[in-house]
Amino acid sequence: MSGFQVDAAALHPETRLVHAGTLRSQFGETSEALFLTQGHVYDSAEQCEARFLNKDPGFQYARFSNPTVAMLEARMAAFEGAEACRATATGMAAVTAALMSLVRAGDHVVAAQALFGSCRYVVEDHLPRYGVESTLVDGPDIAAWRRAVRPNTKVFFLESPANPTLEVIDIAAVAALAKEVGAKLIVDNVFATPLFQRPLELGADLVVYSATKHIDGQGRCLGGLIVGPEALIQPEIQTFLRQTGPAMSPFNAWVMLKALETLPLRVRQQAANARIVADWLLGQDKLPKVTFPGHPGHPQAEIIARQMSGPSTLVAFEVAGGKDAAFRLLNALRLIRISNNLGDAKSLIVHPATTTHQRFSPEVRASMGVGDGLIRLSIGLEHPDDLIADLKQALAAV
Ligand SMILES: *Cc1c(COP(=O)(O)O)cnc(C)c1O
Repeated sequence: MSGFQVDAAALHPETRLVHAGTLRSQFGETSEALFLTQGHVYDSAEQCEARFLNKDPGFQYARFSNPTVAMLEARMAAFEGAEACRATATGMAAVTAALMSLVRAGDHVVAAQALFGSCRYVVEDHLPRYGVESTLVDGPDIAAWRRAVRPNTKVFFLESPANPTLEVIDIAAVAALAKEVGAKLIVDNVFATPLFQRPLELGADLVVYSATKHIDGQGRCLGGLIVGPEALIQPEIQTFLRQTGPAMSPFNAWVMLKALETLPLRVRQQAANARIVADWLLGQDKLPKVTFPGHPGHPQAEIIARQMSGPSTLVAFEVAGGKDAAFRLLNALRLIRISNNLGDAKSLIVHPATTTHQRFSPEVRASMGVGDGLIRLSIGLEHPDDLIADLKQALAAV
């Protein structure tokens, strides 16, 4: 490995996404190399010993680290202005590792109730098996977070905007409360994207991503990222990942490393398209409610103006007529495809009540804001006029 490393701090975020973290081999390749190897060989037994003692910098085994994965981690840390980043096999591995690393039996976690289904499973069902209790609160209600705090509360967890309702939580207010009570705040920043929201600057301790979404952005690979200060990542997260093994594949890391170079272009265009589509949806009389974080009518518009530098690539809307009407709309679409994924170059639509949030009772779904007529639409890179034409003909079928 050779070449000079760029001083990322002196560069704009877009430049960091193209250059930061690059490690060049002796061949001086332009594009970052894919190091598809499980392990590494050593020049001597002494070097091998030093490597295991962390006295000789270098790679050992791909469960611990890999040059391509390390480039992705360094690039993402530089983009976030954070000290460290660790990659994981999936977004859920990142969420689970971040939560499990920071708690012990007897601790308590407070989380917003409107969460991605699997995140809610980890907090509500999985952690209690190991003696970690959790309380779910109405995320936007800061007083509810305060009421839920106990002497043993160690972690706050939230998603903003939340899936699928796009409700927004005041991250700085929750972070201030976390500091006051000695808890760590973990923010799942998938829906905001790393481009439009910087939770670490708002006071969060760790940020987690499903890199499967906007970071890949073209529906190819699964991946997760955990970003934060070295003091948290190195002892807690790195040890957990190294010993339990949810490592990201070097191939997936290579796809995501290259995808980061175009993240701002893609996400800005997708958000601009989402705004055009959301504006059009707002005027349709079969749709009683349209939620888009870029609309002045969003319930938390004032918080969005403070903590986000762009809207989202997602729109949520209610169709009058519940599940039947929602299904008729989805089935009539031709260009926009039915899929539970999001953040893709292709526009994707899903009915959360029967898919991502299907395992919850109707009462719990209602408390999360997921009604039978709710639809989540992830906007891609198609021309917005084509998306509107598709929605228009599909709405006519409702
Ligand atoms: C998709 C998603 C996850 C899980 O990510 P995977 O890569 O599918 O494991 C976690 N949180 C949010 C908000 C998501 O959208």
